[in-house]
Amino acid sequence: MVGKVIQGGCFCGSIRYGFGPDNYYTSNCHCSMCRRISGAAYVSWMAIPLERFTYIEGEPKKLISSSEGTRYFCQECGTPLVCMLKEYPDYIYITIGSLDKPQDFEPKTDIYIEDKLPWVEK
Ligand SMILES: [Zn+2]
Ligand SMILES: [Zn+2]
Repeated sequence: MVGKVIQGGCFCGSIRYGFGPDNYYTSNCHCSMCRRISGAAYVSWMAIPLERFTYIEGEPKKLISSSEGTRYFCQECGTPLVCMLKEYPDYIYITIGSLDKPQDFEPKTDIYIEDKLPWVEK
């Protein structure tokens, strides 16, 4: 990878990842699976083309969370890092919350809003 690399990783530092900057698709997912797996009200995702993404340190543990998706998390500290969807095999979805600078990547869309918790604003 050349130039500036956007980086992120898990809470304990066992896993680090990176990818080149671009205007990537972002969304807040309010589905019940994201909620349960993260323990948070919703999860903010960013879609990175697979060929632009790389692990810098370690590799996460795989969890087949449904027939449509596989999720990856740090097996040391549990941070949810990545999701792969069968429908979009060329993309890797990273959790914006695991980026080093999540403030730079405001999610632009909301999905599964029918599952959104009533106390989540907006
Ligand atoms: Zn970790
Ligand atoms: Zn979801």
